Amino acid sequence: MPAAYQIIDHVYDAVVVGAGGSGLRATMGIAEAGLKTACITKVFPTRSHTVAAQGGIAASLGNMGPDHWTWHMYDTVKGSDWLGDQDAIEYMVREAPAAVYELEHAGVPFSRTDAGKIYQRPFGGMMQNMGEGPPAQRTCAAADRTGHAMLHALYQQSLKYDADFFIEYFALDLIMEDGVCKGVIALCMEDGTIHRFRSQAVVLATGGYGRCYFSATSAHTCTGDGGGMVLRAGLPLQDMEFVQFHPTGIYGAGVLITEGARGEGGYLTNSEGERFMERYAPSAKDLASRDVVSRSMAMEIREGRGVGKNKDHIYLHLDHIDPKVLHERLPGITETGKIFAGVDLTRQPLPVVPTVHYNMGGIPTNYHGEVVTLKNGNPDTVVPGLFAVGEAACVSVHGANRLGSNSLIDLVVFGRATGHRIAELVKPNSKHGQIVSSEDDRALARLDRFRNAAGGSPTAEIRANMQRTMQADCAVFRTTASLREGMEKIDNVAASLQDVGISDRSLIWNTDLVETLELDNMLPQAVVTMHSAANRQESRGAHMHEDFPQRDDATWMKHTISWFEKGAVRLDYRPVHEYTLTDEVSYIKPKARVY
Ligand SMILES: Cc1cc2nc3c(=O)[nH]c(=O)nc-3n(C[C@H](O)[C@H](O)[C@H](O)COP(=O)(O)OP(=O)(O)OC[C@H]3O[C@@H](n4cnc5c(N)ncnc54)[C@H](O)[C@@H]3O)c2cc1C
Repeated sequence: MPAAYQIIDHVYDAVVVGAGGSGLRATMGIAEAGLKTACITKVFPTRSHTVAAQGGIAASLGNMGPDHWTWHMYDTVKGSDWLGDQDAIEYMVREAPAAVYELEHAGVPFSRTDAGKIYQRPFGGMMQNMGEGPPAQRTCAAADRTGHAMLHALYQQSLKYDADFFIEYFALDLIMEDGVCKGVIALCMEDGTIHRFRSQAVVLATGGYGRCYFSATSAHTCTGDGGGMVLRAGLPLQDMEFVQFHPTGIYGAGVLITEGARGEGGYLTNSEGERFMERYAPSAKDLASRDVVSRSMAMEIREGRGVGKNKDHIYLHLDHIDPKVLHERLPGITETGKIFAGVDLTRQPLPVVPTVHYNMGGIPTNYHGEVVTLKNGNPDTVVPGLFAVGEAACVSVHGANRLGSNSLIDLVVFGRATGHRIAELVKPNSKHGQIVSSEDDRALARLDRFRNAAGGSPTAEIRANMQRTMQADCAVFRTTASLREGMEKIDNVAASLQDVGISDRSLIWNTDLVETLELDNMLPQAVVTMHSAANRQESRGAHMHEDFPQRDDATWMKHTISWFEKGAVRLDYRPVHEYTLTDEVSYIKPKARVY
């Protein structure tokens, strides 16, 4: 071990890394069960990206029209382009209404109907009658600040329980021994001390890795640190080729305009003033699922019908909606439009373009939140002691494409499920085994190497190379040629990290160091994303491969799993769970996916 580092030891029954919606819900559940719990977070809990979620959270409450959990299940399976695991999807949609009521009782100030019930808006791909339509009003909203309301309520609630919060601590690495997770090592960014958390269970709730791309709606903190730790631990990630582009990021700024804007009646037009979605999705139109709308926009732009000087974006109209309704239902985006596009929504259209928004792929888990891997031919081998939830995880309920408002419900449903599982598995105050020191060495040697890195390439330069490569070669449309070139480029960018140089050698609030550690987490994920995309020779959900434009269930109805070992990618597969959890609903068979 590099001699200069002093380690401060902590012992817990369970440690959660991350304090977004999923991490806080897991923390609450574990602490409530009487286990000694720590929650480690690199940002103050209420600054986690969940705070930025606008549109809402899906649950078949049926407050604004008929609805049923089986309809929500059908839509989620279809939205996933049949890559979602149907046992996990059934679990999520059945638990969803109870999870929303739980949030209501926790103090989330949902918008209300005249009758005082939770307000629900239509969202893309959410339909009645097993996909037949009409649209279902299923997305529960607190105006256009649902994530903000949720995260604040969850944080306030979590203080009620006896969990210890380690705020502005940066988790460096998992402590793995003989395939078992025994804890995590973290850096306290405020004073530079190193902390070793020994624990019977570690929950990774570290969010997505959207910042691998140049234009993303996610916060700058969304660097996929959990995925980076998992790859370093020799475990695989799953379905990384599926990256969701949101149709409506503000042109230039990347800031999100919620799908709720189209849910409230907004629509898209091209340079000819045409409502082109009617051509691509005759029945759902502007409320088709995100991959379909993003691709249609990209087609319009490609065929020369984009708007603006460079004909490279599209207009979103809300100017026909009563300003009173805009003020009440979409106050946040009215403000966002003014600040980031200089547009008065009540009178002008907003310039928008498809922007990276969500990672369907992540750390493979079962519906209890237990991390799984392929071992000795068993694709569902549980990794003892390790759990993952939220956007960091791949349960998989979103498959090849997530429906809007299905992430917030995923956070709370599986955050809660993980808490239950850990309460079953871990007895309070059970004994911890010895940890061999080589595990601390591995984490600290990595820290030390970057802290003293004296190469010629600044972190920001390598990061920009990665982001530009992903944006150019692993975007809405992909081809064999673009992916082949992309693989070569991204492999070179990853290798260039050897030559990184940082200028600040201290350990206290060293943002240069922390951003380098984050880059080291992102790069392998960018690499496996590109390689997984190049490998999948079909089009499914968010993965649109122009040389293989059809979905190919015979060959590709399977999850990709990807390892990153000694700088090289290894790929294999896990079967999709083509069965349900109970026999109250039957397996939803694959069909062509039209909206
Ligand atoms: C702008 C925007 C709007 C959205 N709107 C919606 C919506 O309306 N409905 C919907 O369903 N979904 C929406 N989504 C998606 C959804 O909000 C996210 O998928 C979800 O909030 C992710 O939550 P999480 O708990 O997984 O992680 P996050 O909320 O991203 O939190 C990650 C946590 O991990 C911690 N962390 C990360 N790395 C480390 C480390 N190394 N050490 C210590 N701590 C670490 C961070 O401090 C943070 O607390 C939206 C996403 C965006 C970007």
